[in-house]
Amino acid sequence: MVAETRNALTGSCHCGNIRYRLFAAHQGDALPQRACGCSFCRRMGARYTSDPEGELRIAIANPAAVSRYRFASGVVEFLVCTRCGGMPTAVTEIGNRTHAVINANTLDTPLDGDAPTVDFSGETLQEGEERRKRSWIGHVTIVFGEGQHE
Ligand SMILES: [Zn+2]
Repeated sequence: MVAETRNALTGSCHCGNIRYRLFAAHQGDALPQRACGCSFCRRMGARYTSDPEGELRIAIANPAAVSRYRFASGVVEFLVCTRCGGMPTAVTEIGNRTHAVINANTLDTPLDGDAPTVDFSGETLQEGEERRKRSWIGHVTIVFGEGQHE
């Protein structure tokens, strides 16, 4: 595994119930940021980043304190911590694979640069899936329980 030689970005919700580590193929300042203009993301003030060649490990200490919020088509699950209200990541299943984006506002070290707002509301379901398959993080693992943050 070459992950250790890659650029690792860590983040979490505010209380640390949901933590993640992104092993990115690109340096942090090369990761694109975007804000989604949908009604949920606008309310959350979320700014997203992803690296399709990266690898994301999500560690959830207490799954009972995570809301897997869905709306509209319901194909994307937003992982919201019910303890602190933070939303560090969103995931979707395409085929039998999990893809994810991270909310750049929840990184331990913020990224530089702007996050232009993008409007995906005109997409068909298939266009949305193709976009996420192309641009979201394509290697995602989720582990549960205390003491597995690393
Ligand atoms: Zn939390």
